[in-house]
Amino acid sequence: MPPEAIDIPSELRPSDGRFGSGPSKVRPEAVESLCEAATGYLGTSHRRDPVQKVVGRVRKGLAELFSLPDGYEVVLGNGGTKMFWDALIAGVIEFKSQHLVCGEFSAQFAAAVAHAPFLESPQIIESEPGTRPAPRAARDVDVYCLIHNETSTGVALPVRRVAAHGLVAVDATSGAGGMRVDPLEFDIYYFAPQKCFSSDGGLWIALYSPAAVERIERVAATDRYAPQSIDPLIALESSRKNQTFNTPALATLFLMATQIEWMLSSGGLEWCAQRCESSARRLYSWAERSEIASPFVPIEDERSPVVGTIDFDAAIDAAAIARILRANGVVDTEPYRKLGRNQLRVGMYPSVEPDDVGLLTQCIDYVAGELID
Ligand SMILES: *Cc1c(COP(=O)(O)O)cnc(C)c1O
Repeated sequence: MPPEAIDIPSELRPSDGRFGSGPSKVRPEAVESLCEAATGYLGTSHRRDPVQKVVGRVRKGLAELFSLPDGYEVVLGNGGTKMFWDALIAGVIEFKSQHLVCGEFSAQFAAAVAHAPFLESPQIIESEPGTRPAPRAARDVDVYCLIHNETSTGVALPVRRVAAHGLVAVDATSGAGGMRVDPLEFDIYYFAPQKCFSSDGGLWIALYSPAAVERIERVAATDRYAPQSIDPLIALESSRKNQTFNTPALATLFLMATQIEWMLSSGGLEWCAQRCESSARRLYSWAERSEIASPFVPIEDERSPVVGTIDFDAAIDAAAIARILRANGVVDTEPYRKLGRNQLRVGMYPSVEPDDVGLLTQCIDYVAGELID
């Protein structure tokens, strides 16, 4: 009998089998409300009221969700987080940046900066996958590039100011909306809709402090060339009109607005953070008790509440477990490919039911038991 033929009993199956780290579970209720609104919204101009209103809901809702102080702004543009990295290179980093590197995403951004011919070589502070590095104040650094959650390894990092000078720019693609954050500790907090915000990819969103806005205006006034599509000043000016520079995906915006309003009406960021922690407790406490599995991140405080990584004993093939789960409708538990570990990775964003994470652990135990037999 091929392993894929293992049939997980229905009482163990989660109510929703989507555990991806991005794209991640989209709530069926949000899709329904998109369908209801569709005829007056999808296929209409992004320079007109129905779409601009949705952009306005996204911007206002995020300002409320993150309790942004006066003077902070919510800006968005097309292209997703990696495109925003290019915007940071094109129009935010003045001379030299510092980067915390502890996994694939943080490493990719640092490598992109290192290729920019008009910037000095970035200062890189690196630690082994599964651990986290700490930033250091440096006189010649004008942007400290932190990461809230390293999605490839499941390590959570603090968002804290580093020095009196230098902007703090945080890649919060997977952390934003699922982890607490104090806006006074950052200048730029950026993310994309396909993780905690349960929408589709292809958009970037950045929360700016007044100092970030001032920096963007100052760099734009120099003779450095910024391609229009990644020029942060153009994005800022478009966003202030509740628009994007080029045409956005309207369904993505709508699903995101719906998710933000669901988060706010449920209890805001604190509620989201507690819900993710509740899911994470179920996953990590199971792994700690397990004879075949253990949390990949050794230090408890550094384990992500939104993306859990679980190592398996050599006797158990984690890839086979992921395949069997998939055949049973429980999808995207595969680890980050390049990490190359015998591991499962579980997205535990606010849309995921904590009880479903509990059931997932039972499914894993069941499958592992069948594989050993
Ligand atoms: C998902 C992710 C990215 C990439 O986001 P895109 O929108 O696909 O460009 C970057 N950084 C982190 C931390 C991520 O989790």
